[in-house]
Amino acid sequence: MHSTSDTLALIGNTPLVRLKGPSEATGCEIYGKCEFANPGASVKDRAALFIVKDAEERGLIGPGGCIVEGTAGNTGIGLALVANAKGYRTIIVMPETQSREKMDTLRALGAELVLVPAAPYSNPGHFVHTSRRIAEETPNAIWANQFDNTANRKAHIVGTAEEIWAQMDGRIDGFTCAAGTGGTIAGVGLGLKARDENVRIALSDPHGAALYSYYACGELKAEGSSVAEGIGQGRITGNLEGAPIDTQFRISDEEGLEWVERLLKEEGLCLGLSSGINVAGAVRLARELGPGKRIATILCDTGFRYLSTLYNAEWLAAKGLPVPEWLAAE
Ligand code: PMP
Repeated sequence: MHSTSDTLALIGNTPLVRLKGPSEATGCEIYGKCEFANPGASVKDRAALFIVKDAEERGLIGPGGCIVEGTAGNTGIGLALVANAKGYRTIIVMPETQSREKMDTLRALGAELVLVPAAPYSNPGHFVHTSRRIAEETPNAIWANQFDNTANRKAHIVGTAEEIWAQMDGRIDGFTCAAGTGGTIAGVGLGLKARDENVRIALSDPHGAALYSYYACGELKAEGSSVAEGIGQGRITGNLEGAPIDTQFRISDEEGLEWVERLLKEEGLCLGLSSGINVAGAVRLARELGPGKRIATILCDTGFRYLSTLYNAEWLAAKGLPVPEWLAAE
């Protein structure tokens, strides 16, 4: 392990782990990029760092500055850590439906938290529009704008994709993940295709999102719903524009949760549901590509962020989701 005096240098350069169960189930080699190993325990630390650095380079933020963002939580956690390390203030706007753990973490990090009711994007009260308004009204503030600010996906073009390429020794046949802002799928997709245009890029879309139908037949149409946090997009964000998506899967919460449970019980990985959906997508991609292929996906965040939800029997039952036998005791 290297040594550094720069805490922000701890973001990125995450390990890649071979996932035994998914690999054995398909005859492929399936790898997970351990983004839960970032200091803020999610993939979004990368976007947060790039967005802030980009704003500094463009002279938009400086001493005494404030960063405002609307987020499902993980970007806020990343921004709060980066802002603390650089001496900025953070205001985070979040829908009140997100996990308690994310809210507690943001408060603990010193972010000013603004909770808003969950609303469709077309509603001016949506967390993204609220955060933009607060940024406009706050002196010395920038709006991080993770959905349309392509500094987000750049973090994955120059970081995540290059790391995966090196960690897989330049031998990779496919990559898949879900999209929230789309920064990860677009950035890793563009980065890997620049290395080898034959790498197949697959979107793993949760129910309730509109991207599956967009890439399948050109129409943004959502069906069903999902309890997965941080993923499920209804529009082509700035980060998704030009994303090189070759194929797409629609993954149910049940299918994702099955992998969350298996990865926990069989491999000792405690993850969130977007990771489970990504692994389910990697298994589908492996079946499409055939045995012997090498596939990578993203393990987006830690399951410790969802102890009151995904790892809570009552919560799962109330959502009509299957309760794993070890949580069901009593
Ligand atoms: N999983 C989780 C848990 C997230 O918080 C996010 C970020 N919204 C994603 C996946 C998706 O990442 P991206 O925004 O890069 O599409």
